[in-house]
Amino acid sequence: MGSAIDSLRENLGAISDLDRARGLMAWDERTQMPPGGAEPRADGLATLARIHHERLTADELGSQLDAAAAEIDGMPYESMEASLVRVTRREWEKARRVPADLRADITRTTSVAERAWVTAREESDFKAFLPHLQRVLKLSRQYVECFAPYDHVYDPLLDDFEPGMTTATLVPLLAELRDGLGPILERVAQAPQLDDSPLRGSFDVPAQRALALALVEGLPLNEGEWRLDDTVHPFASAIAPSDIRITTRYDEDYLGTSLYSVLHEAGHGMYENGMPAELRRTPLQGGASLGFHESQSRLWENWVGRGRPYLRWALPMLQEHFGASLDGVDAEALYRAANRVEPSLIRVEADELTYNLHIALRFELEVEIFEDRLDLADLPEAWNERMERYLGVKVPDDAHGVLQDVHWGAGAFGYFPTYSLGNVIAGQLWAAAVEALPDLEEGFERGELQPLNTWLRESLYRYGSCFEPLELIERVVGGPLDVGPLVAHLDAKFGELYGR
Ligand code: ZN
Repeated sequence: MGSAIDSLRENLGAISDLDRARGLMAWDERTQMPPGGAEPRADGLATLARIHHERLTADELGSQLDAAAAEIDGMPYESMEASLVRVTRREWEKARRVPADLRADITRTTSVAERAWVTAREESDFKAFLPHLQRVLKLSRQYVECFAPYDHVYDPLLDDFEPGMTTATLVPLLAELRDGLGPILERVAQAPQLDDSPLRGSFDVPAQRALALALVEGLPLNEGEWRLDDTVHPFASAIAPSDIRITTRYDEDYLGTSLYSVLHEAGHGMYENGMPAELRRTPLQGGASLGFHESQSRLWENWVGRGRPYLRWALPMLQEHFGASLDGVDAEALYRAANRVEPSLIRVEADELTYNLHIALRFELEVEIFEDRLDLADLPEAWNERMERYLGVKVPDDAHGVLQDVHWGAGAFGYFPTYSLGNVIAGQLWAAAVEALPDLEEGFERGELQPLNTWLRESLYRYGSCFEPLELIERVVGGPLDVGPLVAHLDAKFGELYGR
């Protein structure tokens, strides 16, 4: 006779397998699939999503949870068993609150809206997109009502990406970040611009691909547990912790695109690769939230990859692949090129400093929309006004403004703030890592990146998604969320680069 916790694990293992199959099909769709596969693949993905949802919301899982809870009664909160029951019950209850009709309506409406968004962006026509956005918003509000009562109307949206996170916590936090960045950006704007010509020129794609592969080989990912492929919009996915798929894209005129998208996506990959064996095939396997996931991609991309020590180590590799174009470039020139700050219109092209202002703007607009303080019809105007106020740039048209991101058409309200949260958390983790390992950066100059990975595995990865983000940050750094370390990092770095 198996125990109740064993039957629960068996069921959750099967549910996790369905999710992996879905992940593999989605990865294939974006890296290998010929265009003709689009329609059958959409059918296949929809079927898998439906079966996954049925199993996750089944009464059977509820009974298994009750039996397992009774069996492990008295086990500590931190234990794998208690976490498994707690986290699974939370997911099960959330999934059951949303009627199947509403879910189907959201899926249909957002897929139509996403297609309309593509055309509207091409034609820079917000008015054509507006009715779609209105329909998506209406459904998002209905979705929110499934979770009543709530403290703030935006809370249920946040909760899907950051379990337990509240608007009351996030609004002052991201306002503090925004206000902390203003003076740094002002000084940068008044200083002479940095030269990024070492990363610009003509870079052969096959050579970039070879370099990207060499860079990932230099990272502390387990051997034989990852691969790297081309895609249009880079992403990373874990088919399993021991099967990490990293993707990137190559820009012939700018080496920074592939260089930093590879480090970013590999950062996501290392998080998944570091999941402890006991969490495998359970809902506890994987990152704690989108914010924690993004903290890993940003840590490796910005704190490691855009730092002097790593670039000193990487420069000979770059020169090996692009001898002629990098002749006479020293590590200091490369460091300056990789850290040029330039307020710009497009979020995904933004630098380390201004990126968070793009997020502040989106987050504030989202909250205002849900608080009924901003009408969707007035969104372009509000967007443009804030772009000028925060970044000092004038938006020429909606394609370069409010229409640039797919998120809202896709119904992903509550998603944007997780990007900045990732930067905030990365700042805190970095400060804690450097305190624990004072020689950390010295090792980077010799390509020794394993100590950071080991520290992350022991301090963060071991918890998987056992705890909610606000509990987890306390456990890892011994304090609450705090923008201080991020602002201090940016202030020190750009103060030195651009002068004070
Ligand atoms: Zn990311």
